[in-house]
Order: sequence, then structure tokens, then C-alpha cells
Amino acid sequence: MREEIGRLISLQNLDRELHESTAKLAAVTQGVDKLREETAAAAIEIERLTAEQTQAELARRQLERDLAEGEARIRNSRMRQSLIRNEKELQALAHEIETQKESNQRQEAELLQQMEAAEPRIARLRELGETLEKSRTELAAAEKEIAGRAEELKESMRKRRVERDLLAAQIDGTLRARYEMIFSRRGGLAVTLARGGTCQGCRMRLPPQIYNEIQKFQQIHACPNCQRILYFEPAVET
Ligand SMILES: [Zn+2]
Repeated sequence: MREEIGRLISLQNLDRELHESTAKLAAVTQGVDKLREETAAAAIEIERLTAEQTQAELARRQLERDLAEGEARIRNSRMRQSLIRNEKELQALAHEIETQKESNQRQEAELLQQMEAAEPRIARLRELGETLEKSRTELAAAEKEIAGRAEELKESMRKRRVERDLLAAQIDGTLRARYEMIFSRRGGLAVTLARGGTCQGCRMRLPPQIYNEIQKFQQIHACPNCQRILYFEPAVET
């Protein structure tokens, strides 16, 4: 009985270590996953803004060409002004120049608007470029760092699992099933000390007869309150 309890305690220790390692592994990979997401997000935004910027530049160049043409047309009209003598034709030409001027002004305003709109986009692109470069460097370093640590953790977990399964095979099947059920339902504590007549898992006072039997290692008992498997540790004589 005493040995069976000893095996259960060792099993519990191994299971707790395995739990801890699993959590550690998750924490290690989580950091890298986050960096990976940030890097991808920056790359996507850069792509979107770059496409937007390319479109805007094409539109701006078209606008500049239109404006230059408009200005050329005005110069042309002014040259024709000096050649025309007919009053009616002169008036028509003056009107044409006015209309063209208004059109040029509208295009100028539009051009300025586009240039203003491009400014924050260009700034954001520069900022994103720096962010991306930085997070790529960080990601590469983190990946390199965790590759080793994750592999180490996995390897030690593999070994521990083999050890655990060997040990588990030595424990009575019913008791083991009971242990595993309680371990998963009671926060990783299935085997606990009975001390001073009290279950150390839930702090409940145990019926004296049960406590007595536990002390004598006569039978494996579970706490009537929390169902944890109880064991007794005789005081170490010094
Ligand atoms: Zn209890």
C-alpha cells in the first residue's frame, strides 16, 4: 500500500512537471506568434498603401499634364488675340481664355489637394517600413531563440512522458483511472497529504477512523469532501 501511494505521488509529480512544460512551451511560442502576426499586418498595410500611392501618383501626373496643356492653350489664345481685329471674335476669344483660366484653377486646387493627401500616406509608409524591418529582425531572432528552447522542452517532455507511462503501468488500473480523473478535475492535485486529521487538499477534518487507517497504511482512502487520494507522512525522526 505504501509503495502504491509512493508511485502515485511520483506520478503526480511527473504529471505536474509535464503540465508546467506544456504551459512553458505555449508561452514560448506565443511571443513568436504575436511577432509573426505584427509583421504580416505591417506587410499587408504597406502593400495596400503602396497601391494607393501608385494610383494617386498616376492621377497626379495626369492632372499635371492637363494643367500644362491648359496653360499652353491660354498662351496660344493670347497670341491669337494680337492677330485678330474683329471685335466679336476678340470677345469670343477673351471668353475662351477666362473659361480656360477657371478650369486651370480648379485643376491647380485639385493638384494641391492630392499632394496634401499624399503627405500622411508617405509618412505612414516610411513609418511602416521601419516597423516592418524591425519586427522582421526581431522575429528572426525570436524564431532562432525559441527553436532551441522549444526543442529542448519537447525533448524533456518526451523523456518524462516515457517515464510517466512506465510508472503508470505499475499502478492498479482502477486507482490510476481514479487518480487521472481527479487530477484533471481538481487543478492538478489528486494525491494529497492527510495531516493533523485534516485533508491538506481541501482543509476538511477527516473522520477519525479514516485518518487512523490512513496512518496505518491499511487502505487507500479518498477525502470524503474533495475525493482526493490521501496519504500519511510519518514524522521524520532526527
Ligand atoms: Zn479533501
